[in-house]
Amino acid sequence: MALRNIVKEGDPVLRKTCREVTEFNERLHVLLDDMAETLIHANGAGLAAPQVGVLKRVAIVSVDDDYFELVNPVIIKTEGEEISPEGCLSVPDIYGTVNRPYKVTVKAFDRFGKEFTASGKGLLARAFCHEIDHLDGILFKDKVIEYCDIK
Ligand code: ZN
Repeated sequence: MALRNIVKEGDPVLRKTCREVTEFNERLHVLLDDMAETLIHANGAGLAAPQVGVLKRVAIVSVDDDYFELVNPVIIKTEGEEISPEGCLSVPDIYGTVNRPYKVTVKAFDRFGKEFTASGKGLLARAFCHEIDHLDGILFKDKVIEYCDIK
């Protein structure tokens, strides 16, 4: 495993639409492992492949004891809404409130190409939405209602 450099806002790679993964091979596994190490090192709740300069529909989410590897993820169901602060490893030291669904269900593939669904509430739902937005070139700043000081 290796740490990857997290690209920051202003890099055009963060504004591109990512491509679907079609091959669930060693290269994908290395990417996921490197992203996990990078996320732990950065102490974040999630990381999307474009944040390490890779334009593939791959993201990881780590909230409390929940850890998900999401390949080609799609939100298939949402319930409720919640306005809460969030931040982004690509937008350091900036936090703002964003309206997200309170609960989401995501359909995705694991690293071996097996389809699964995962549901999350609150922060986990927020992380799913935030990371999947990255795959379409959307940053949380695009959706901020109000900037705030605290995380
Ligand atoms: Zn982010």
